[in-house]
Amino acid sequence: MAYTYQRKGRLECLLCPHHCRLSEGEVGICKVRENRQGQLSLPYYGVLSAVANDPIEKKPLYHFYPGSSILSVGFYGCSFHCPFCQNYQIAQYTPERVEGRVEPEELVRQALSQDTKSIAYTYSEPTVHFEWVMETARIARSKGLKNVLVSNGYLNPQPAAELLEVMDAANIDLKSFREEFYRNVVGGHLAPVLAFIRQAAASLHLEVTTLIIPAYNDTEAEMREISSFLAELDPNIPLHLSRYYPAYRFDAPPTKADSIFALRKVARQRLNYVYPGNVGSQEVTTYCPGCGAALITRRGYRVENRGIKDGSCLACGRPVDFPV
Ligand code: SF4
Repeated sequence: MAYTYQRKGRLECLLCPHHCRLSEGEVGICKVRENRQGQLSLPYYGVLSAVANDPIEKKPLYHFYPGSSILSVGFYGCSFHCPFCQNYQIAQYTPERVEGRVEPEELVRQALSQDTKSIAYTYSEPTVHFEWVMETARIARSKGLKNVLVSNGYLNPQPAAELLEVMDAANIDLKSFREEFYRNVVGGHLAPVLAFIRQAAASLHLEVTTLIIPAYNDTEAEMREISSFLAELDPNIPLHLSRYYPAYRFDAPPTKADSIFALRKVARQRLNYVYPGNVGSQEVTTYCPGCGAALITRRGYRVENRGIKDGSCLACGRPVDFPV
């Protein structure tokens, strides 16, 4: 379904909560959806910024076939304008000249020819390329592949339902629990992101990432709100607390690793699985919520599932509540 609407000579895009109203020749906030002669045009359909085989832990997804590799595809453009964006070269810019498009069938063929179970739609914001992602994900599923969405979660409920239907897992950013942060820093609103996370939690395997930025979202009070919100949905949702490093327009020093560990302690009062991200070569362990035994250990992208046997904790026999 095309999420557009004609209103007073302009084309309204109904895909994300920005609801851009586009006059002839205008492009949306995401820079990749355009009004051409009264019709929605997608000048970057199938234009990929990257295709790479990644460890699934890099998405980050820690509870979805740990240790597997995933064919990861990136795009151009984004519905947010985060001044600390780590991928701003592809998220905040679009190429002037399009050199080659990848058809959905071609990408799926590539995935099938490699040692991978799944495809990740990632790096920049995939949801603004809704049509290509939907088409690819449907074909991928029909061939037995899993689909993984890595997104800012800024999508209206109807397209979100369609998209989540063809996805198997997702990692969604919850950048802050403050409307002012979404409005003033990244250019969006908090409520639609929370709604998307609720929808995703009810539909597929969900993990959530919060990039911790000093003086923006690093208080214990805010971490209590984030973790309470997620715990109400499901205390087994893994939360990744990722360390900020200077990028794009932000040059403040990186978040201290100690701050990440202190916030993890706060979040773990409500959530069973909270992981530090971008903290170097430190070992990151998944413990059994039943007996506390180590189930999975990770050092960098080296993953060992030694505490799991036949889908259960080796020490206490409690079934592991995620696909391994
Ligand atoms: S998807 Fe793009 S064009 Fe559509 S409403 Fe969102 S920002 Fe605007």
